Amino acid sequence: MATLNPYQPPTTRLREALSAEVGGDCWRDGKELVVRPGCTLPGRCIKCNEPAAEPMQHARFYWHHPALYLVIFINLLIYLVIALIVRRRTPVTIGLCERHRMRRRVSTIGAIAGTLLGVGLIGYGVSGDAPVVSMIGVAMLLASLVCGIVGSRVLVVTRIGENYTRFRGAGTEFLATLPAFYRTR
Ligand SMILES: [Zn+2]
Repeated sequence: MATLNPYQPPTTRLREALSAEVGGDCWRDGKELVVRPGCTLPGRCIKCNEPAAEPMQHARFYWHHPALYLVIFINLLIYLVIALIVRRRTPVTIGLCERHRMRRRVSTIGAIAGTLLGVGLIGYGVSGDAPVVSMIGVAMLLASLVCGIVGSRVLVVTRIGENYTRFRGAGTEFLATLPAFYRTR
């Protein structure tokens, strides 16, 4: 007859912890997606959990410690050099459905068109001595860059560690299908 061992950890939790260490390479941790570098995510849209359009996309994400941004205030060039050296890289293969892939493409094309138009307006304003036109051009250029960056990115890296990379931006339904992540060390 089996006796109850009070020191035994809950088995489901132990099993999930083991699966995080031994098998699999992507998990959910609250609202965050946790992956091992080089992971191929399940063939579903990371935004809405619909079947992913083939072929899935190979993406590379970069991250460095946020404190490094302080160097920008000292010298932008020094920051860029240090960031290039110390940044960490994670390749991940991600799935997007047709709808989300198209949305991403449209925002990229819109951003490029807006940027070109902005540059054109700046040039026109400078050559035609019309400062207001130039200012509109600068505003359009900046807005296009921001919209392009925000609209085209599908995941945002929150941290790239030694073994795991964490992302924000994955859909709740997609995350719900992944095993939970438990730190085991
Ligand atoms: Zn989708």
